[in-house]
Amino acid sequence: MIGFCGICDSELESLAYYSTDREWLISARCKKEHLALIRYDKEWNWQEDLHLEFIKEDIRVADLDREMLNSVFTPAEIRDMIACQQGKPYTRQNIYRARGKYQKFEKLFGIKIEI
Ligand SMILES: [Zn+2]
Repeated sequence: MIGFCGICDSELESLAYYSTDREWLISARCKKEHLALIRYDKEWNWQEDLHLEFIKEDIRVADLDREMLNSVFTPAEIRDMIACQQGKPYTRQNIYRARGKYQKFEKLFGIKIEI
């Protein structure tokens, strides 16, 4: 346990340590799967917490909680986001409409969808 999640306040557990020339970087994950990167200097003085947005690009809509999705997206949008990620036929219009809601979804749940 190395701190608290900046999104949901639950405990962060460290996943990996990286050493660079100037600092230590520790990746961590909370119970709700939010990811963070914590920077320390070489003397282990805390510098800052960063959210790992880039790792979230791998998020698969099919794996997300359906109630979370339903609170923002319509069933047709959810179906086509999943189809698009799985390389199956989808309606372009539904993806466009869903894109307009990604920010709202990220604000509510701290999860960034990129399709
Ligand atoms: Zn969290």
